[in-house]
Amino acid sequence: MEKGQLIVISGFAGTGKGTLVKLLTSRYEKEYILSVSATTRKPRGTEREGIEYFFKTVEEFEEMIAKDELLEYAKFVDNYYGTPASFVKEWREAGKNVILEIEIQGALKIKEKYKDTLLIFVVPPSAAELKNRLVKRGTETEEVINKRLRRAGEESEGIEQYDYVLVNDDLEECVETLHQVISAASHSTRVQGELIERLRQELKVFSD
Ligand code: 5GP
Repeated sequence: MEKGQLIVISGFAGTGKGTLVKLLTSRYEKEYILSVSATTRKPRGTEREGIEYFFKTVEEFEEMIAKDELLEYAKFVDNYYGTPASFVKEWREAGKNVILEIEIQGALKIKEKYKDTLLIFVVPPSAAELKNRLVKRGTETEEVINKRLRRAGEESEGIEQYDYVLVNDDLEECVETLHQVISAASHSTRVQGELIERLRQELKVFSD
């Protein structure tokens, strides 16, 4: 079976990337699986343990780091976030495209480790709309919202390090574009290294 792709999706807080990824993975559930991260952030609203995140104390999280159980981790606005390694490896080997919804520092670490990773950045149609969405979500204080908006400005400096940028204006349109981009990228020479190598080996027969 062909190995699944590793896909990183990033975007400023409030861009709606969570909703986007949930829709993608439920609509095309045979093709994709979403990795569940560990975090020291407190659960928000209806978030459940093991579904949105594995919620950890700082001590527990630091133990995971010490035991090398994380593929990457980063500190984001005062909390730790990290990707459990075993999940990603097992599902890729089972042929699923594994999606990581993580921020930029983690994304670049993953790209360093796995050169064939596909990096996609999701943006809102405008900065005003971003603020609007964060305020409407109503889950954070004004101080946290302002911190996240400042952070968005910093993160915007790194967008060119991603392979693709998608505007999440209309959710329905964006989810289909996302699926098309990932499908097209599965044919990229970067991902198809094994196929190319196999053909090269087979072709050697004719040059001897
Ligand atoms: P939130 O607190 O809004 O759920 O997430 C804050 C940021 O952390 C988002 O940009 C999200 O993509 C990112 N994030 C979530 N899980 C991980 C992870 O495992 N590693 C890294 N590096 N970032 C993560």
